[in-house]
Amino acid sequence: MKQTALVTGGASGLGLVIASRLLAEGFQVVIGDIDSDRARKAAATLGDGAAALRLDVREMDDFARAQSLAVERFGGLQVLVNNAALTLATPIMEIGVEEFDRVITTNLRGTFVGCQTLGRYFAQQGYGRIINMASLAGQNGGTASGAHYAASKGGIVTLTKVFARALADRGVTVNAIAPGPVDSPAVRALVPEEKLPGLLAAIPVGALGESEFVARAVALLASPQAGFATGATWDINGGLFMR
Ligand code: NAD
Repeated sequence: MKQTALVTGGASGLGLVIASRLLAEGFQVVIGDIDSDRARKAAATLGDGAAALRLDVREMDDFARAQSLAVERFGGLQVLVNNAALTLATPIMEIGVEEFDRVITTNLRGTFVGCQTLGRYFAQQGYGRIINMASLAGQNGGTASGAHYAASKGGIVTLTKVFARALADRGVTVNAIAPGPVDSPAVRALVPEEKLPGLLAAIPVGALGESEFVARAVALLASPQAGFATGATWDINGGLFMR
């Protein structure tokens, strides 16, 4: 039987590339995004194997609704990709507490809520794969992105380990992927065209990452064969950070 994956923030950017790759690899996909129109359009483009709903990662009930939709439409849910994020670049001394809370609530609490709500469901069914989108910014403090974003992504790496440990004996793996700058609408919006050569010069491999490769990494970690990989963070950063 085909497996089903929920991709949060799957209506655009990397999330949409991930949804499309998972579909190509035989998964059925539920796109959950705060932008419901875009989510529906994305699912329509992807075809019969895709469904969409409005999902705000800040709301626990929205994950439960996504689970119900996956079960009704596709007969189950086995994979969660916590991809939705707010990427803001306000300089650290100018970040107000409300903006700080907004980014942390979306990125860090959203990932926590997703892991807890669906982690519990996966544990009950004795199988699941959770992939959290972290970032190089969570490891090196970030270059183009803000402190709140970087701190949220560092927190996601830690949450990944703690959930991985809690769910390891229940057939559920939890991993993170930490990309450096990927050629994507978000990076193009954050880095003005004239600053791109400077960014590329700072990346050891001299190029932006490819979203399709990141999506392939997600699909590999989502596969049933990935059972021995858990609690890991997969760096894909062009050599910007090595450990
Ligand atoms: P993006 O900003 O282009 O897309 C984010 C998506 O999340 C959008 O569809 C948006 O509508 C949705 N979203 C925002 N708030 C939401 C909420 N509260 N609930 C549900 N959906 C919400 O981002 P992207 O560049 O595609 O990045 C995807 C993921 O990869 C993010 O977690 C990001 O931090 C991570 N990442 C991206 C890069 C990169 O170079 N693009 C690098 C490192 C990490």
